[in-house]
Amino acid sequence: MRRWFFWMAMFLFAALLSAAPRADQIRTRVADGFDEPVGKPDADGYYKSRGFLSYHPGEDWNGLGGGGSDLGAPVYAIGHGYVTFARDARMGWGNVVLIRHVYMENGTLNTVDSMYAHLDRILVREGQQVTRGQQVGTIGTNRGMYVAHLHFEIRKNLYIGINRSAFPRDLVNYFKPSVFISSHRKLPGGGRSAMIVINTYNTGTITSAPTDESSMRKSPNAKPSPMKSPAAPRKDFRVNRFEDLGL
Ligand SMILES: [Zn+2]
Repeated sequence: MRRWFFWMAMFLFAALLSAAPRADQIRTRVADGFDEPVGKPDADGYYKSRGFLSYHPGEDWNGLGGGGSDLGAPVYAIGHGYVTFARDARMGWGNVVLIRHVYMENGTLNTVDSMYAHLDRILVREGQQVTRGQQVGTIGTNRGMYVAHLHFEIRKNLYIGINRSAFPRDLVNYFKPSVFISSHRKLPGGGRSAMIVINTYNTGTITSAPTDESSMRKSPNAKPSPMKSPAAPRKDFRVNRFEDLGL
């Protein structure tokens, strides 16, 4: 009888262990929809200066005021989620925030990462739960490397992190951000939570700086842009000495 009890207790203990969340999973709120990362919720006052291209798997957002008029402007989480990265990644990235979102579509839970790069300031920390529309940072220049703008991506592949050169820049790994957002504005599952995997980035092997921003780089002799320059043509977006990085 005692032996039976012992094995029963062991079975229950093992069952409890296997049912417990793994250390590399965490619970987060299911996104009830997604908004644009600037001028929330519809990017009011902003325009896309560069879209999703074969070498540029994201979108660049600028204020309608042009030049550096959007420096320091707020950047928002596009939906509920969990901050998986919030650091200065240096090189071509600068300050980067990555947020992992889980959302319900056609009865299935899917997970994506949103990326906010070249931030002037980071206002969240890794491991933080954020809500839709919460400010996560401000628009920056990556130490003067670019005219102020937000570089924004949405990834299907949860392993990219800041190691973008290790993955094809295609629609297998990425969504076109504006297409994704406009088709996922309102989603079911609000108020629920779900498990997501975490610790999926290889932050120890950054193989190269992103080289897709050449025409956004400031000329070495560029004068500060007037605060109210017209949105187009934007003379401050000229190609310069960084062009030979291999685009
Ligand atoms: Zn960009």
